[in-house]
Amino acid sequence: MSAKIPYKTYLTEEEMPKTWLNLKAFMKEQHEPFLNPATGKPCTAEELEQVFCKECVEQELNCTDKEIEIPEGIRNFYTNFRPSPLIRAYFLEKMLDTPAEIYYKFEGNNTSGSHKLNSAAAQAYYAKKQGLKSITTETGAGQWGTALAMAAAFYGLDLKVFMVKTSYEQKPYRKEVIRTYGADIIASPSDTTEAGRKILKEFPGTGGSLGCAIAEAVETAIKTPDCRYVLGSVLDHVLMHQSIIGLESKTALDKYGVTPDMVIGCMGGGSNYGGLIAPYMAEKLQGKNNIRFIGVEPASCPSMSRGKYAYDFCDSAKITPLAKMYTLGCEFMPSPDHAGGLRYHGMSPVLSKLYHDGYMEVRAVKQSEVFKAAEEFARCEGILPAPESSHAIKVAMDEAIKCKETGEKKVILFGLTGTGYFDLAAYKQFNEGTMKDYIPTEKDLERGFASLPSVGN
Ligand SMILES: *Cc1c(COP(=O)(O)O)cnc(C)c1O
Repeated sequence: MSAKIPYKTYLTEEEMPKTWLNLKAFMKEQHEPFLNPATGKPCTAEELEQVFCKECVEQELNCTDKEIEIPEGIRNFYTNFRPSPLIRAYFLEKMLDTPAEIYYKFEGNNTSGSHKLNSAAAQAYYAKKQGLKSITTETGAGQWGTALAMAAAFYGLDLKVFMVKTSYEQKPYRKEVIRTYGADIIASPSDTTEAGRKILKEFPGTGGSLGCAIAEAVETAIKTPDCRYVLGSVLDHVLMHQSIIGLESKTALDKYGVTPDMVIGCMGGGSNYGGLIAPYMAEKLQGKNNIRFIGVEPASCPSMSRGKYAYDFCDSAKITPLAKMYTLGCEFMPSPDHAGGLRYHGMSPVLSKLYHDGYMEVRAVKQSEVFKAAEEFARCEGILPAPESSHAIKVAMDEAIKCKETGEKKVILFGLTGTGYFDLAAYKQFNEGTMKDYIPTEKDLERGFASLPSVGN
């Protein structure tokens, strides 16, 4: 008998990854390039560098280097909040009475409460290194805005955060955390940008969307000297920064000779899941394992399971480059689901390509089922999970229950991306039994697809 696997595994600082993994370098075929909507031609590095930091653009376009060094200046900041624990869910296994082995990587042990700080640290570092004075961004649920505010404070940059209005109103305390770290925060749509004013005029009273907040942040970055825009998800370099999640998980599991049969995670823009699966997917692409990869999205915003694989804008004001991805159409307005971080019309081009080529599966789940799973998880594992993360919990629990029925002893790894302390209005609805499930009708989807651009498609 092998020794019992500990409840929690923390790597030592010495064992922490010194390089990120660039999953694209393992893919046999790359996703199609970003297109400039005006010309229909692939975006050049120079065009992208007007919006994003130079080094991030280089990483975005790098399809050849399998590993990219994590600069010491970023690794130093990582030691503030990493490594994150890999937890064996003994209590959950017992509660479910399943023969499955369940592990989760918990990214919520930092003030921002999620994995987002992994890429915020990197992007703020590169912005500072380039000599910029300020950065802008959008935030949905608020985790990304908080993470970037922490990173901007650490590296000494000014930051303006456009926060989706529904979240801004649901989570007033998020605002105070962000302001404590020294950033400006504005509810989006706002009247501070052309994009915001246009949307307010067309849809007065809208609760906003991530796409709209992106448009406002990009516009502000372009119009402000020594300023660039920073995106918390979707783009390839963000997924690469998040590979630290998967690399740490794999290093820890390798110590015990454990390989997962399934890797499960929630998907908003796809960054945490792209990062969690990175080392395992790299092996799968080389034919070295047969792991099942299951990405989970909300039934209210089913970008992959009901979306189209097409070129689309990354924002609803149609000012960003076009990305080839699974999308519901940039004008799709998701209903006010509580998993704010998953309310995005599109999906990472890397994950979209992997899904399109049959390397991963997708599941869409309803929020009432998600909160039920969150409650059961909280009662046995102790952590109060974010609604986003609870999508992964729900599917991991479903798979563990299937194991109980079949008697199979599968190994399940899932990503627990964050904590739910700012989501108590949602938990309140759930506890009071007033939570609703939103599922777009075919008509809603058609309306979104009608906004797909003709360029590229
Ligand atoms: C933002 C967020 C997500 C979704 O974003 P991805 O880019 O898909 O990872 C998931 N969980 C939490 C807690 C988040 O804050």
